[in-house]
Amino acid sequence: MSRILIKDADYIVTVDKDRRIIRNGAIAIDGDRIAAVGKIGDIPPAFAADEILDARGKLVLPGLFDTHIHNAQQLGRGLGDEAYSGPERLFRRLWVVEANMDAGDALCAARLTQLELLRAGITCFADPGNYFAAETARAVEESGARGMIARTVFDMGQTSMGSLPRNFFEPTDDALARADEMVAEYNGALDGRLKAWFSMRVPVACSDDLLRRIAALARKRNVGVLGHACENRDEIVASHLKYGMGDISRLDRLGMLGPNLLLMHMGWVDTKELMLLQRNDVKVSLAPGASFHQAMGNIAHGKAPEMHELGITLSLGSDSAMSGNFLDAIRQTFLLVGGYHEARLDPKVIRPETAVEMITINGARSMLWDDDLGSLEAGKKADITILDIMRPEWQPVHNPIANLVYCAHGGSADTVFVDGKCLMRDKKVLTLNEFDLYEEARDRAASLAKRAGLAQVAATPWPMT
Ligand SMILES: [Zn+2]
Repeated sequence: MSRILIKDADYIVTVDKDRRIIRNGAIAIDGDRIAAVGKIGDIPPAFAADEILDARGKLVLPGLFDTHIHNAQQLGRGLGDEAYSGPERLFRRLWVVEANMDAGDALCAARLTQLELLRAGITCFADPGNYFAAETARAVEESGARGMIARTVFDMGQTSMGSLPRNFFEPTDDALARADEMVAEYNGALDGRLKAWFSMRVPVACSDDLLRRIAALARKRNVGVLGHACENRDEIVASHLKYGMGDISRLDRLGMLGPNLLLMHMGWVDTKELMLLQRNDVKVSLAPGASFHQAMGNIAHGKAPEMHELGITLSLGSDSAMSGNFLDAIRQTFLLVGGYHEARLDPKVIRPETAVEMITINGARSMLWDDDLGSLEAGKKADITILDIMRPEWQPVHNPIANLVYCAHGGSADTVFVDGKCLMRDKKVLTLNEFDLYEEARDRAASLAKRAGLAQVAATPWPMT
């Protein structure tokens, strides 16, 4: 295990308990953990580095979190565009693409997803489920990233929103047995880089029986459940039509609310449901990019400022190449903060510091991983993102946190460590073969779009010669 010294960083944004920002800072990495953080004088003189990384002109952060991405949807990039409604997007685009994939497509998609994440400085993701857990896990093994995977469990072919593709649901017992096997096999795998939880992709396509039993299995395996909820108005209407209540009230009735539940989107929560979330310490992953792109109304109708005031743990997710269309946690901070400034006519309604917490320590807390991750502190895992700030959009720097949220994007990411291993250096990902992957993805994506009957949905009306 190597010992690395990062030194002379312009800024180290620790996100520790005191939220210290260290000028001209240094970090000592010993194996897979952080040995010390501070000024160079705070590094123990006995620390003998095998390698020294000069971080002048750099800003160092905890490895960034994206708590909502879909490895399986990467080859469908753009094929969800301008779907008229939630049901059209889910039933006629996203799930049709996933239902037409083979294992080779899934592996290629997961590699490409993780490449995009690392290039944006994201070291840890949460994926709320697909039917290709083995391929998703294999991509994590190869990329060196950290993540949470899940296996989709749907047991209803017909819902009050529409019908699922034929191979996209299973009998309840089969779905549960396969998900349980997947958790047993992958939770804690890859030296602890992988977590495997139970998926609840969309509540309206899951029976009460399935959801109750998922919660019981999660308790038995001592893991959590992650999935979508309160995503758009269509989904809430569908839940009311079938169950007489919205998602959160239904999940409460089924005994699913708890600190190990991570819910994504959450733009259509009733005021009284906010208290249920707070009381049960439910974690919430907001997806402002997906809402902007797909007209979900999660900002215009969302309650993120109120959730924050109530102390609910909020994190951010990019969703997928078929929903938000890009994977970039830093851009998500701008969309969230700027979106609420606009919607509430209040330029302080969510502060940039709050947004940076969402993609660091709160991301870790949402995945019950904050003992080891989410801040730069001695003893924590050495998951570190280094941004290049010698770029026009970064200069000058009066407030590095404001610049990060209001000016930067994931393209600033220069170097990334996970478990003390360097996965990207000078913007080059060391673990994946970027250009071979682009070529494979192009061919597979064209064939997949054709098989899914979606080859024309993303075509530009401009003549292409
Ligand atoms: Zn999603």
